Amino acid sequence: MTTIDRSAGFLHRERETASAAEWQSYNDEQVRDLCVMAYREAPAVKKIFDDAGIDPDDIRGTADLAKIPVTSKSRLAELQAENPPFGGFLTVPVNELKRIFMSPGPIYDPQGRVPDFWGWSEGFYAAGFRPQDVVINTFGYQMTPAGLMFEESLLEIGCCVLPTGVGNTETQVQLMKNLGVTGFVGMASFLRKIGEKAREMGIDPGKDLRLEIGYVAAEILTDALRAEVEDMYGMTLCQGYGTADCGCLAYECREKNGMHFTSNAYVEIVDPQTGQPLGPGEPGEVVVTMFNPIYPLIRFGTGDLSAYTNETCACGRTAPRLTRIMGRVDQITKVKGMFVHPSQADQVVAAFPQVARYQIVVTREQNSDIMTFNLEMKEQPADEEAFIREFSAAVQDGLKLRPVVRLVPAGSIADDGKKIRDERQWD
Ligand SMILES: [Zn+2]
Repeated sequence: MTTIDRSAGFLHRERETASAAEWQSYNDEQVRDLCVMAYREAPAVKKIFDDAGIDPDDIRGTADLAKIPVTSKSRLAELQAENPPFGGFLTVPVNELKRIFMSPGPIYDPQGRVPDFWGWSEGFYAAGFRPQDVVINTFGYQMTPAGLMFEESLLEIGCCVLPTGVGNTETQVQLMKNLGVTGFVGMASFLRKIGEKAREMGIDPGKDLRLEIGYVAAEILTDALRAEVEDMYGMTLCQGYGTADCGCLAYECREKNGMHFTSNAYVEIVDPQTGQPLGPGEPGEVVVTMFNPIYPLIRFGTGDLSAYTNETCACGRTAPRLTRIMGRVDQITKVKGMFVHPSQADQVVAAFPQVARYQIVVTREQNSDIMTFNLEMKEQPADEEAFIREFSAAVQDGLKLRPVVRLVPAGSIADDGKKIRDERQWD
């Protein structure tokens, strides 16, 4: 093991540890300046403001952002198709860009010429990456921005990067071993695959490799997967959250208890139907306003579902944290005014190992929504009533809704993969 102190320090101490009042004035100033500039320089932003009857001078700070409609990812793709390549959002001539990428949609993603354009370095540093690290970057380097997006930030910190891209696990193992690789960037499931390959090759990932730190993104990281990989290599795994359009939006520190908002954007959690901001703990869509003068996405709807907390974090960073990414907004169902996502239900059910399978059926009777949990059991509870009471209480706690709970015979839940079936009829 190296003797690098990975938990000490901050990349931008002053900003990352700012007080709530300092954060507020920083965000207000960024939002105010961005809206005025974007209205002047980006025709797409001008049109959004004009259509909504908004004067850029009316946006005095983050509290006024809710006046601006959310632009969804699919809308961005449409605008780009109508007005290629960037839909009127780019504020500089195309030839002043450093690179242009294409991600599925198709959506074109610009890279400006400033260092660390996508802003992942803060997250890498918080996770414990240091200049002494030799890092394999297993994100793809072609067409989509993923690979270079992370590489630029690793270089900014001073790490040495091996641009291995995805695939070829045997070569990845050999490189890790021969070059004393200490850091990994990529998907956690891929890192597990590399570890499995190493074992096949007679190499113990924990003893024969020197991996100490990993940074993962692009998939939902379960506690089980994280624990498995950390244990496999004897390493620390932190995750980040971002998109190809925006770059880093939130990142974990070594406390691993949620992802701190980046200081490169203003992050909101909003009601996906009304676009209005929600408070701490309330699940909603992640909507971001990028403090990016060349590509000012203002209230960009990522389509991802999350919630945030502003409880203090032991690391000393003061930015609020996304608690976790729960899935896509288009998978949610609204029941009695509350959003229910399959992943929230999964979490509740996971506490009851005696449940084999479940499905939620939402119906409507006398103008009222009814949420029924149908449960197929591995074993019948000795006291069925007590079990149903306990399960109902867990649902009320987790989903803030009172369910009907039914134990159904094995095989009666349709095998269509739907965790939530909406059977409501709307007149
Ligand atoms: Zn923290």
